Amino acid sequence: MSETITNGKGRAECSSFLNVASLGRKNVRAILFDMDGVLFDSMKNHAEAWVRAMKENNLIMSREDVYMNEGRTGEGTIDIFAREQWGRDATDEEKEYIYKVKSDIFNTLPHVEPIESALELLQAVKGMGVERVIVTGSGQKSLLERLEKNFPGIFKAELMVTAFDVKHGKPHPEPYLMGLEKAGISAEEAMVVENAPLGVQSAKAAGIFTIAVNTGPLPDKVLYDAGADIVFPNHSALLKALPEMVL
Ligand code: CA
Repeated sequence: MSETITNGKGRAECSSFLNVASLGRKNVRAILFDMDGVLFDSMKNHAEAWVRAMKENNLIMSREDVYMNEGRTGEGTIDIFAREQWGRDATDEEKEYIYKVKSDIFNTLPHVEPIESALELLQAVKGMGVERVIVTGSGQKSLLERLEKNFPGIFKAELMVTAFDVKHGKPHPEPYLMGLEKAGISAEEAMVVENAPLGVQSAKAAGIFTIAVNTGPLPDKVLYDAGADIVFPNHSALLKALPEMVL
């Protein structure tokens, strides 16, 4: 992927941070991080598992569909495709079954690695004295252990919003509003790092300045259309711009 950032009007070279500097924010007390596609390179596996599980259950879902629906709850995702292709909502049993098939396939896929430069980015944020909060739709019980193993000393158990905490998944603002509440800060004192259009919508609906890092196959435009304040092509580009973003 090329080393460029975009400002919504076109592409600008990374060497020119004029547009980044104009987005710099004071009084940032915490950065709220999404997990899949932001900290872990897990979306390829999620895409594969969803496509196969849906196909086994007579629903067609493309890899692009998976990225477009990233962040939605499993149930919500299945309902959308059932309504569209079966002409009705899936039953609770069907949803439970399809989601189990998806999870079983996911667990057979290759081990998920952290996203390149994610650790360096998190260490830089910590070094600036800015708190780190996790806001994920994931409901894995071993989440904190995994985070601690890959990103030691970065996250705290009490500063995590997971599938167990919220009633509504992204794009609803509840996950990010709860992140603010857990951190004890206002929207103006926060920034979000997201990779998915529904995640960006959720963060913006919570009133938070939102940085998108486009780690997937969708065009940047999809993230801008979702409301992203700025889109970076990768973590090292964000890392370079960070001192001008957090003043
Ligand atoms: Ca994500």
